[in-house]
Amino acid sequence: MIVVMKAGAAKKDRDEVTKRIKELGYKPHIIHGTTRDVIGAVGDERGKSVLQSIESMQGVESVVPILQPYKLASREVKKEASVVPITDTLAIGGKELIVMAGPCSVENEAQIIDSALAVKAAGAQMLRGGAFKPRTSPYSFQGLEEEGLKLLAKAREMTGLPFVTEVIDPDTVDLVASYADMLQIGARNAQNFALLKKVGQIKKPILLKRGMSMTIQEFLMSAEYIMSEGNQSVILCERGIRTFETATRNTLDISAVPVLKAKTHLPVVIDPSHATGNYHYIAPMSYAAVAAGVDGLIIEVHPDPERASSDGPQSLKPKKFTTLVEKLKLFAEAADRTL
Ligand code: PEP
Ligand code: MN
Repeated sequence: MIVVMKAGAAKKDRDEVTKRIKELGYKPHIIHGTTRDVIGAVGDERGKSVLQSIESMQGVESVVPILQPYKLASREVKKEASVVPITDTLAIGGKELIVMAGPCSVENEAQIIDSALAVKAAGAQMLRGGAFKPRTSPYSFQGLEEEGLKLLAKAREMTGLPFVTEVIDPDTVDLVASYADMLQIGARNAQNFALLKKVGQIKKPILLKRGMSMTIQEFLMSAEYIMSEGNQSVILCERGIRTFETATRNTLDISAVPVLKAKTHLPVVIDPSHATGNYHYIAPMSYAAVAAGVDGLIIEVHPDPERASSDGPQSLKPKKFTTLVEKLKLFAEAADRTL
């Protein structure tokens, strides 16, 4: 259920409502809107009609059921798009298109520093790089782990670029959060509910990737897991889904962008690198993503893709990435975004 407060309702009234929601056995989540606040009451669906009585409380305009199974992520609960802050000066979901770029994995100091300098010079606002790698094979490179986080922090210090990096299990969430500006939940962990709950309890933004066989509803239910624990800073990432097609690594579900935009207030980004698996296709898919209405892109860039420890074939060289960002500015302008 959502409790819609009257425009300009007093804080005292809101406090009384949250208290009553708790008394009735539900969890209140306050969502601040531009004109009014709404309070989500989340809990057991079966007894939710008891919440209806809140409608007669001071400062309350109405109590309405949320029809979708995802509640806090839903557009029903919040009509305006969410702008998720990453740092004091950077946010995702506003007019500015955010480009995150860097190697698949952090390999060594020179590689990540070179990558960071190159993507910054090209115009990216964030650095990406994996320190903990969720590899399909246990024999593939697993990442530098904490050493990789330290190198990412060094690259941030040198360039000023905040970074996003993946966390693969609940036990290392606090460690990764102590270094990273944003934590990534990878496609292979998109329904790891213990991990989703754990990142829901921290105060860093979460880049949630769509699982490779996940429906949009399941994707939003995973976002709901994070939000229901208290962390509302979730950014959704479409990174290609598994279909019968084998010409590309995955199939980029570009229509997921307008569908997600209609169903949720959360920002949406596209990862054309994992979607296609081939550097030749990154530029056209990036342009398409901007045309479809994304809030950002996350792109793999490597100074020497032929020698990359992971995902070399889909990684752009810095020069190609620079050209891509230049051209992307035209598409951004056409989509009424800045870059
Ligand atoms: C990655 O971003 O390096 C990654 C492993 O992506 P995905 O989880 O989308 O496969
Ligand atoms: Mn990768």
